[in-house]
Amino acid sequence: MRGDPIWGKVKASHIADATVFVALDKSRYFGKYGNHTEVRDRNICIWDVQFHLPQFPPKVVRAKLMSMEKRGLLTGCWCGCRADIEILKYA
Ligand SMILES: [Zn+2]
Repeated sequence: MRGDPIWGKVKASHIADATVFVALDKSRYFGKYGNHTEVRDRNICIWDVQFHLPQFPPKVVRAKLMSMEKRGLLTGCWCGCRADIEILKYA
């Protein structure tokens, strides 16, 4: 996919909110990188989300998450230092 010329043209706006919510749900129950010593709803980290959205470049996924935070839908750490991503409200 990285060799595909379209790879560099993918934008955050190409990811639907619903796609992110599905990835967050998968992360909650099947989180691979989150800190599972914490309460389940608070153990999603950005690597979990990116793991469940392999079709999008990581920087695009991060931009999408940050745009959803600006709209009041999500909160959390986007650099990967904490596993505290939460859904504040569904669009
Ligand atoms: Zn951080």
